[in-house]
Amino acid sequence: MLDFLRRTIAGRLYLVGGLALVAVIALGAAAVYFAGNTGRAARILYGGSLISAVEAGEIELLLERHRRLIEAAPLEFDRRQIVRDRENAEHVIGRIGELVSRSDPAFSARVKPVLKPIDALGREVLHLAENFAQDSALNIVEQYIAKAAELQRLVRAHRGDSVAHAELEARLLVRSANRLVNSVVGIGLVAALLIGPLAMFLLRGLIVKLRSISAAMLRLAENETDITLNVRHTPDEIGAMAGAVEIFRANAVQLLDHKSQLEQLNQWLDIAFNNMARGLSLYDSDERLVVCNAAYAAIYRLPPELTRPGVPFAAVLEHRWSRLGDVVPPLLKDANLRRELLAGDKKKTEELRFEQTMADGRVVEVALRPLERGGWVAIHEDVTERHEAGRRIERMAREDSLTRLANRFRFREVLDGLTRECGRRFALLAIDLDRFKEVNDTHGHPIGDQLLVEVAQRLSKAVRKSDLVARLGGDEFAVVLEEDIERPAVTVIATRIVAALHAPFQIEGHRIEIGGTVGVALAPEDGADTESLMKHADIALYRAKGEKRGTLVFFDAEMEDRLRKRRQLEQDLQGAVAQGELELHYQPIVSLADERVTGCEALIRWRHPVLGMISPAQFIPIAEETGLIVEIGAWALVQACREAVAWPDSMRVAVNLSVAQFSGPDLAEIAGDALMASGLAPERLELEVTESLLLGDDNATLALLHRLRALGLSIALDDFGTGYSSLSHLRSFPFDKLKIDQSFVRDLTQRAACEAIVGAVSRLAESLNMRTVAEGVETDEHLSRVRAAGCHEVQGYLFSRPVPASDLMAAVAAINARVAKSADAAA
Ligand code: C2E
Ligand code: MG
Ligand code: MG
Repeated sequence: MLDFLRRTIAGRLYLVGGLALVAVIALGAAAVYFAGNTGRAARILYGGSLISAVEAGEIELLLERHRRLIEAAPLEFDRRQIVRDRENAEHVIGRIGELVSRSDPAFSARVKPVLKPIDALGREVLHLAENFAQDSALNIVEQYIAKAAELQRLVRAHRGDSVAHAELEARLLVRSANRLVNSVVGIGLVAALLIGPLAMFLLRGLIVKLRSISAAMLRLAENETDITLNVRHTPDEIGAMAGAVEIFRANAVQLLDHKSQLEQLNQWLDIAFNNMARGLSLYDSDERLVVCNAAYAAIYRLPPELTRPGVPFAAVLEHRWSRLGDVVPPLLKDANLRRELLAGDKKKTEELRFEQTMADGRVVEVALRPLERGGWVAIHEDVTERHEAGRRIERMAREDSLTRLANRFRFREVLDGLTRECGRRFALLAIDLDRFKEVNDTHGHPIGDQLLVEVAQRLSKAVRKSDLVARLGGDEFAVVLEEDIERPAVTVIATRIVAALHAPFQIEGHRIEIGGTVGVALAPEDGADTESLMKHADIALYRAKGEKRGTLVFFDAEMEDRLRKRRQLEQDLQGAVAQGELELHYQPIVSLADERVTGCEALIRWRHPVLGMISPAQFIPIAEETGLIVEIGAWALVQACREAVAWPDSMRVAVNLSVAQFSGPDLAEIAGDALMASGLAPERLELEVTESLLLGDDNATLALLHRLRALGLSIALDDFGTGYSSLSHLRSFPFDKLKIDQSFVRDLTQRAACEAIVGAVSRLAESLNMRTVAEGVETDEHLSRVRAAGCHEVQGYLFSRPVPASDLMAAVAAINARVAKSADAAA
């Protein structure tokens, strides 16, 4: 208890309060005591003294009045007056008796014995007076007066006593009041002296501590955490409060720390938020903006007042369609639809993604996610560039990068579209450039590319804008005509294309002549789907190329049949070597000097199990296209050597080579092996190559030719005059022999120019130290003309057709016999 009083402010306040209470009780007690005393004194004063004095006074007065009535009675003659006096006297005596019996008993006891005779004497007097016995009455008045005087003394003495007693009581009352004042002053002084300083001391201590705490709290409120409390360790409530402030301070430190972390985080978030490439907007359930970032404002060109929290979504929409002229998607524009999607019963919960194309052409992708409590959050991304890139890629995917024409993919797409419209009429032109490979080989690829670009331009000019021109790859082009697709109109356009491609090109100073061949397929009669139409146009083109380049050919069903057959041949040819279906026929070559057989040309034949004998003109192109020629050529070489070794030593064997063999397995090795395996002397082997081999101006080819020649065999240039007939070709390699193409020999008789050419070529060859062979000598006239032109050797039906190996010796014998016969005839 003592500890409580000593250690706690409440205890101390209780102590001060207790002391104040004691003082108040003491004052109260003093007041009560005083009141008691005063009451008692008053009562005494009033009841015992004052009243007694007053009543004594009244008794005295009544007695005086009674005396005057009695004294006057003997002198009164008016009887009625005496009667009235008697009544008054009786009344006065009654009143005196009343007062006496109420007063102090001692006084009453003393008065009553005196009052009685007075009353009796009075009555006697009045009675006598009434009966006109004035003298007797006067005598009795004497007695009466004596008695009345006695009573008067008694009453006076009693009044004097009463007054004296009242004085005493009043004095006592004054003394009591003085004592009360003294005790109140005393108690007040004691209380003031005791409680005041104690309370002041306590209050001061309290106020100092409270000030310290409130100052600390104020500083804390201003986020100053660097505070020290000197009341920290007191064990009272202030100490507890200080402890609380300390905790509060620790919390504040923590809070401030968190706050600064949060502020930092907020700052970063703010930076991140406003530096996001994507726009972000958050609307509440009342469709009012909660927050948005800078990118959002930038995307929709929003003025600052439309980016403030609370802005209605409708205001943003209004801005977009009235200011920017955007076409807002119905999902956003239609408030009902929006509500249904974002807030209604059928509210969506998954993300909504859509694209908006702005009035200025930008494309904005929006990913909108409805929120649980209503409203939505949306990410907005300007995807214009991505769209354009996509479109570019799409365009590139459909465009030929070199010529900018539609590519194969786009071409097929258009064709697919057209063929899907059942019965739609249109024409498909497959175009192939003639001699493009030669241009590439001769002038190089850059020129070839430029040529393709110019071809594309010419093709585009040759057709209408509505027609589709495509490059399908390499020198392959195609055109789709969607209007005027009757044969005559198509013929006009295709002829225009052929003419356009036929006109010479001028590229980087080179005059280039190519030409183009066109195959046409018409839909729907030539095919109801893309595949068959393309195939048929290709077949027509193939046919055109096969027949005469630089023309146009419409597809017909028979072509397909032929092609099918050709494909069959292709397939059959695959196994022809392995199955021993190939054989070599030999055509003798005759020297003009002595008309003796100097050698034979090996000419391949295919004995087809079903189709019978097939000429090389039919299957060599197929073998060349399929690459089978490499295998076939090697076989022919080996076979020719093997068979020729049985011939007379004077006879050589000539074997034809294809260009493809020069880029296949090492030809020099194959030839060397063939010679070695057969045992044929190298000088008895002759290899025939055509001019096209030299077009590429390929060093590797020349090197190979030299290596072949180094084996000891000879090399002939076949079919001279049909290709480029270039003198540079003659110079590029020292051919042993020049075979003049049979087309010159055939025309020798009709055209003088041919004779001149054959003569010139012979002389040229002579000068270059080459022997010349005239091919296709069928008649004696041919023979005499080539002889006149100076050719060294001849080959032709005049002497012998190509014959199987088994018939060769007979054929040779026949030639020799023919020579002998003509010699005889000459002799
Ligand atoms: P080529 O090398 O120019 O062969 C000469 C062609 O002329 C042969 O045709 C031959 O039969 C034909 N011929 C010969 N004399 C006459 C004649 O007086 N009148 C007519 N109209 N034609 C005559 P063939 O055997 O049909 O061979 C054609 C072509 O096939 C050859 O032309 C040659 O280029 C090629 N060839 C033949 N065998 C082979 C071979 O083993 N390998 C390669 N790569 N090509 C071959
Ligand atoms: Mg030949
Ligand atoms: Mg030839």
